[in-house]
Amino acid sequence: MSSIHAQYAWLGGESCSTSVRIASTNGLISKIEVDVAPSANDSRIAGVVMPGFVNAHSHAFHRALRGRTHSGLGDFWAWRTLMYQVANKLTPENYLALATAVFSEMALAGITHVGEFHYIHHQQDGKKYNDPNEMGKVLIEAARRAEIRITLLDVAYLHAGLKNEVLATEQLRFNDGSIENWLSRVEALGAPSAMHTIGLAPHSVRAVHEAELAQIAKYRNNRVVHIHVSEQPAENSACINATGRTPTQILSDAHLLGPFTTAVHATHLSAEDISFLGRSKTTACFCPTTERDLADGIGSSDKLVEAGSPLCLGTDSHAVVDMFEEARAVEMHQRLITNKRGVHRSSELLRAATTNGAASLGSNTSGLVVGAPADFIAVSTDSVRLASFDSKNGAAHLVHSATSAEVRDVWVAGEQIVADHNHRQHPNVAQALRTAIDALL
Ligand SMILES: [Zn+2]
Repeated sequence: MSSIHAQYAWLGGESCSTSVRIASTNGLISKIEVDVAPSANDSRIAGVVMPGFVNAHSHAFHRALRGRTHSGLGDFWAWRTLMYQVANKLTPENYLALATAVFSEMALAGITHVGEFHYIHHQQDGKKYNDPNEMGKVLIEAARRAEIRITLLDVAYLHAGLKNEVLATEQLRFNDGSIENWLSRVEALGAPSAMHTIGLAPHSVRAVHEAELAQIAKYRNNRVVHIHVSEQPAENSACINATGRTPTQILSDAHLLGPFTTAVHATHLSAEDISFLGRSKTTACFCPTTERDLADGIGSSDKLVEAGSPLCLGTDSHAVVDMFEEARAVEMHQRLITNKRGVHRSSELLRAATTNGAASLGSNTSGLVVGAPADFIAVSTDSVRLASFDSKNGAAHLVHSATSAEVRDVWVAGEQIVADHNHRQHPNVAQALRTAIDALL
């Protein structure tokens, strides 16, 4: 057993508790006591302890594009061309180095669990590697090296559009040929471990069609489902054009909506779509820093939550890796378009960045509760940004003032992997990122 004694801890409400003792046994939280004096063996932690962040939507290799595409002209589709160029340079060797560095950057930012939406499966010409799951296993290994949990959201990408457009050369790496081939490759990834699980990720309704989506619903086998939904207006109009229905309606008809599914982005939804998602308790995953970078638009987080959809968050293209910024952006974007403040409570935004994300990746128990994995972080209140921290408004201080730079210590499964801003396995993550990205570009 190990134990920490935190000056403050965020246990789920609007305020933070003081003098909180958290004990862990075999990687799980075994006891939480509030307002107690430290015991002799406790590690004394200054600042605020809170659950580790869960980054529910990541494409690790997009990190290589940071700063190189952000000031460009054009729209989402122009950006996608640049992104595909990098995708086609990935090999198992260079991707292992890049993803290890990216997941280590996430660890430093307090992310203890990543949902990696993975679609670079095959060689550049579409030929399978000797092990058809080589690239997926590279990502699981990268997370192991960075010492964070991963849910590998293995992507099915079978079509270039809803009218059976032929896949472009740069999309050949994504394609398994048929839904059956994809499902059997995913099965071959084998059983999950304590640190990794596998989820199913039909890329979008344009890349996986309705009959195939229905097959996924049938063979889901308790795995979570993540899918890009209505990120772009053009995607909706193409879908309505081809099928007479919206992407959300297609998912509903394919029996793929439910608490096991996460609709990623969910930016351009009709009132009926929102009601379908809310009633079915489908989670919505917003990636605000990416969505604003790509000029996607602002989703209706307020209406989705009101309808019953839990909200979770992802850093997606890693324009920044800062889950405080993602949480803050949800509320700030709503304020700008509704002319109202306080659309989401701060505690709700912190849950979106932590426990809701864990649930969307299939965890039954998460957060600072007994029985949950002992995945938590300590946020320093010593910086200029949090120097006036008051625990009564603790959640608001965290959401509205903190950045990932305040994340000082990180524990995963009760083991401290980041101490005083240093990753115990990777002393120089910045250099690792530089080297990996230089090698790729
Ligand atoms: Zn994505």
